[in-house]
Amino acid sequence: MKKHHWLLTLLILFIAFSLIFIGCDDSSKENKQPTPPATNNEQEPAEPNEPEDPTPIEQTEKYYINVNNFRIKPVDPENTDKVVLLTFDDAPQGTFTHDILDTLDKYNAKAIFFVTGYYANRDKDLVKEIYDRGHLIGNHTWNHHNLNEITSYEETEREVNRLNELIKEITGEDVKYLRPPYGAHSNNPYLNKILKEQNIQKMTWSLGSRDWEFIYPERHDDVANEVINNAHNGANILMHDKEITALALDKMLAGLQEKGYSFVLPTEIIFE
Ligand SMILES: [Zn+2]
Repeated sequence: MKKHHWLLTLLILFIAFSLIFIGCDDSSKENKQPTPPATNNEQEPAEPNEPEDPTPIEQTEKYYINVNNFRIKPVDPENTDKVVLLTFDDAPQGTFTHDILDTLDKYNAKAIFFVTGYYANRDKDLVKEIYDRGHLIGNHTWNHHNLNEITSYEETEREVNRLNELIKEITGEDVKYLRPPYGAHSNNPYLNKILKEQNIQKMTWSLGSRDWEFIYPERHDDVANEVINNAHNGANILMHDKEITALALDKMLAGLQEKGYSFVLPTEIIFE
């Protein structure tokens, strides 16, 4: 009888060890399960915010300057929007330039600032600021000489090209428009060739603000009224970077807006 007990005990031990072994084997199999790839908890570094490029021109419609009457015209003949072009000559003189820029911003209006070599070279940062605030920088010649009185190709070229180079150095952009001082250009036989070679368009104006005639700052309402009363579709409005004009601008732009005009820039150059 004792012998049977002993065999039974061996049998039970055998079964028990087998079960333990199988159990161990199972658990070792579990351990061999391929481990899931470690999740990458590291956050991708956020894209640095690119500084926004200044957008010189926000308008969607395209415009150009008519070479005969210097009015601003839509490229699309079906575009009948009432528009005017604002221009400031003899810029940037500095004293009232920021007042002009702030008033333009108030009406979301863009303009061409025709700079001279003297003023642009004296305050390049201000030229850059004007450009960065969305306006165009035009060439008003280096010395502001009457181009009709210049008698050589070389001197005409110097008056134009030296300032083109300075403007490009400041803004990084090629000059597109030139306004001859005093509007005088027709007796200079070299100017058109020099400009055409560089795809620059010449313009005088179609509506003078007469800010050079009213002179005294207290007469600023006369400047505003001169423009409002004589406004026409496509008007190329001549003003100057000076006190009387800075004072007139708010009333002028409000009056033009009331008459249905918006303020646009030329975007194309079309030599008709
Ligand atoms: Zn001038």
